[in-house]
Amino acid sequence: MGSGSGIWLIVLGLVVAAAVLGLIVYGLAGRARRSGRGQPPRSAPAAGTAGGAGGVEADQAAGAAGPTAAAQTAGGERAEARQANGAGGLEPGGETEGVVAASGGEIEVPEAPASRLRRLRGRLAGSKSALGRALLAVLSRDQLTREDWDEFEETLLMADVGAAASEQILERVRAAMRVEGAGADPAATLRRELLAALETKASRTIADRGGQGAPGVILVVGVNGSGKTTTIGRLARLEVAAGNSVLLGAADTFRAAAADQLAAWGERVGVPVARGPEGSDPAAVAFDAVAAGIDRQIDTVIIDTAGRLHNKANLMAELEKIRRVAAKQAPITETLLVLDATTGQNGLTQARVFTEAVEVTGIVLTKLDGTAKGGIVIAVQRELGLPVKLVGLGEGPDDLAPFDEELFVDGLLGAKP
Ligand code: GDP
Repeated sequence: MGSGSGIWLIVLGLVVAAAVLGLIVYGLAGRARRSGRGQPPRSAPAAGTAGGAGGVEADQAAGAAGPTAAAQTAGGERAEARQANGAGGLEPGGETEGVVAASGGEIEVPEAPASRLRRLRGRLAGSKSALGRALLAVLSRDQLTREDWDEFEETLLMADVGAAASEQILERVRAAMRVEGAGADPAATLRRELLAALETKASRTIADRGGQGAPGVILVVGVNGSGKTTTIGRLARLEVAAGNSVLLGAADTFRAAAADQLAAWGERVGVPVARGPEGSDPAAVAFDAVAAGIDRQIDTVIIDTAGRLHNKANLMAELEKIRRVAAKQAPITETLLVLDATTGQNGLTQARVFTEAVEVTGIVLTKLDGTAKGGIVIAVQRELGLPVKLVGLGEGPDDLAPFDEELFVDGLLGAKP
């Protein structure tokens, strides 16, 4: 009996040991799967190069076989994020379709930043130099009367400079002209004061790189029709031209057309796009986009968001959730608000809704080519307290340029480039 129960105890001990070993091995394999160590390494697409094209082909193969490795990895993380978020977390319906690679066609090489600035210089001035001419015409009169200064201010207001900035420019120009007397140079004075009105302590540089190996994450917000999708496509080209790898997140899941449009932009320059089914949770797409960006060692992830304005509380909740969920993996380095320059003061009222909903770090002013009222740049900066970082100057794929206040003011004053 004694030796019989001894054998049973040994057998039981062996079974327990085997079970424990099995659990350890399973656990380690699971961790390797989640951290992506079980996946073959992926190359970040450096678009415009042979390496970029290689990345795209790898994606096509993965795409055909179902969700990509990046999306699978993100799926595991997302489940964790869901738990961490509790009731406020990602909805079960928020599954994404993974990362859709740029497919097939020839990859374009976008125009380099310096070249586009030179090319777009004239357009920055365009018909807006009429403003500078009108202001200088007043200032060149002898013995400026009260009516002359009223006309000066009226001209600024008509160009959408805004009441507060117009008054400031008027007061400062008048004071300077008084001090300088007969020796005053109206053009130089006006140039100096317009530049002062455009001065900002904030940097105009786009924060497109994250620290410690994380990608820079750029959130793009704005009302539908402002040129948001176009801006994201063109910003991707600007980044690619600067040598950065880019991944786009189509988190405007309310309009299937927006994701298709983004995919088309991505395809042209070999930039992958993370997207979800129409109506899926935008925050889940944003999460997957950042996860894929980390997985692929991408420099910059640019995330599109929905621009519906029908309910401010909804908009706030949605943008806040996208920001919070995306930031679980890498900090948001930039939140750009896209504004249509042709909408004037109306556009500014809409803009305020967004600045209240999310912490905006910079403005993209589109369709500046479509308005003679260049003063809107001054009003936007002053009234929103945010720097204009990029300007859209046409409908072409590379008609987006970093904003340069000196070029702009010289354009207004009709100075020859
Ligand atoms: P979204 O609804 O905000 O995503 O707007 P879209 O990106 O679809 O742009 C709306 C329209 O504005 C399109 O026809 C664009 O070509 C046009 N657009 C965007 N940016 C500019 C710009 O800087 N200049 C001009 N002239 N048109 C622009």
